[in-house]
Amino acid sequence: MNFFKKLLNIGESLIASRNRSKRASKTSSARSEADSSKRRRAKSSRKGSLSENKSAAASNGSSANSAPRGRRAKNNVRSDTDVRAKKADRPLKAPPEPASMEILKTEIPDFADFGLGERVLSAVRDMGYKTPTPIQSAAIPLILKGMDIIGTAQTGTGKTAAFSLPIIDMLKGAESKPRVLVLSPTRELASQTAAAFAAFSKYSQLESVLIQGGVSMDRQVDQLRRGADIVVATPGRLIDHMRQKTISLSAVKYLVLDEVDRMFDMGFIDDVSYIIRRCPKQRQTLFFSATMPDAVLRLSNWALKDPERVGMSIACSPAETIEHFVYPVDSIQKYDMIIEILKGIEFESLIVFTRTRMDADRIGEWLAGHAYKVSVLHSDRTQRERDKALSDFKKGKTNILVATDIASRGLDISNVGYVINYNVPEHSEDYVHRIGRTGRANREGKAITLFSSEETEFLKRIETLINSRIERKKLEGFAYRNEPVLEEEIKRPRRRNK
Ligand code: AMP
Repeated sequence: MNFFKKLLNIGESLIASRNRSKRASKTSSARSEADSSKRRRAKSSRKGSLSENKSAAASNGSSANSAPRGRRAKNNVRSDTDVRAKKADRPLKAPPEPASMEILKTEIPDFADFGLGERVLSAVRDMGYKTPTPIQSAAIPLILKGMDIIGTAQTGTGKTAAFSLPIIDMLKGAESKPRVLVLSPTRELASQTAAAFAAFSKYSQLESVLIQGGVSMDRQVDQLRRGADIVVATPGRLIDHMRQKTISLSAVKYLVLDEVDRMFDMGFIDDVSYIIRRCPKQRQTLFFSATMPDAVLRLSNWALKDPERVGMSIACSPAETIEHFVYPVDSIQKYDMIIEILKGIEFESLIVFTRTRMDADRIGEWLAGHAYKVSVLHSDRTQRERDKALSDFKKGKTNILVATDIASRGLDISNVGYVINYNVPEHSEDYVHRIGRTGRANREGKAITLFSSEETEFLKRIETLINSRIERKKLEGFAYRNEPVLEEEIKRPRRRNK
């Protein structure tokens, strides 16, 4: 091994050990990706006008992929970070020929009506999409016009395609520096989004790179060096690359902040703000959040320019295709109840959600002990274990996934017929996200929550959030220690005796 290689390795192991100790000090490994960004207070605030950028995007948005490159040249306001992207000097892949517009207009007319080019439309057709989902119908035209948007869409509604299709269409050819940056709260969501970008750019020469923690930086550095048009990243690892100058954000034109409320929950706010401040001011920003608490609203106010809102009304309600109810049960009987439920249903794949990592491990063992094929996913597992758990589950090697809330957001696992909540989630939004793992893309699904009396407060909060009462049911044939309460007593004010 030569001297430089050794130096590189030492550097890598220093970073790795720093990351390890960071991980140990935080409550979850996802959280560990958030660096101590409080020291990195950026001074700049977002100024400047996007209007020119937007009119450029609008004029290019509806044309086919053969349109000329270099729309940045139209922006006459330049900051020192605003470097014009150069044509890619890497060997470019030879994409397959797209279908003709004539065919595409016949087969997927609603998508063709957006004005997307053949290359993107051909990829949509390959995915088997026939008609756009509501969030796609609402967001794609606005994004193609160059608007900033705030999207609140339930998970499983086709949100990823809503932002990736127009972006890919507007990118045209490959260039040397990343022009798209997508920030995701979890590694799993990031990897899923990167895969979607890769699939939708199958007919173009664009390259996507996934920048996530928990794996070696070497490969990511290599990929970035070779040139990437699209970067999908978790915040902590992206900042590691920014500090080591292995990535430049100077050409970023499209910034997507996905599941922003989740990034807040996970303590990424400072990291996310730090990254946004280091992106060029002239950019289009797309902001997706299931809920809009004040802190998220404040971030959107300074990060976005005259945003249009899409999909507000459905943020906090479960999809209509999901039947969801609770089984009231003593907490000490919950393990037995899971087995009893499993015995009584037929399923292709099912997810059991737990509040804690320890519960996930224990229930995983309990189910494996009952001869079920189980994968366990939580943030204390190594990245390799997390990847294996997901891939085994997706491939059907296992048909039960026991997971903490790391899997409740954004993950697209098809054919999940059932979700079982081992406990009532503490954060009400997590309920909507957890049960949203089933009933995806208009399939039917069932979500069952095991509810013990200590969790009454959590259940009430969820019912307030979704604005409806969740039905209490009794599991027939189960040997209850105590008869379950299906209708709470309505407390009436006592009459005073005069
Ligand atoms: P997402 O909300 O982006 O995670 O997408 C959820 C699932 O819906 C994914 O499996 C997508 O491939 C699928 N999907 C997205 N858009 C459409 C569409 N227009 N028609 C059918 N399926 C779609």
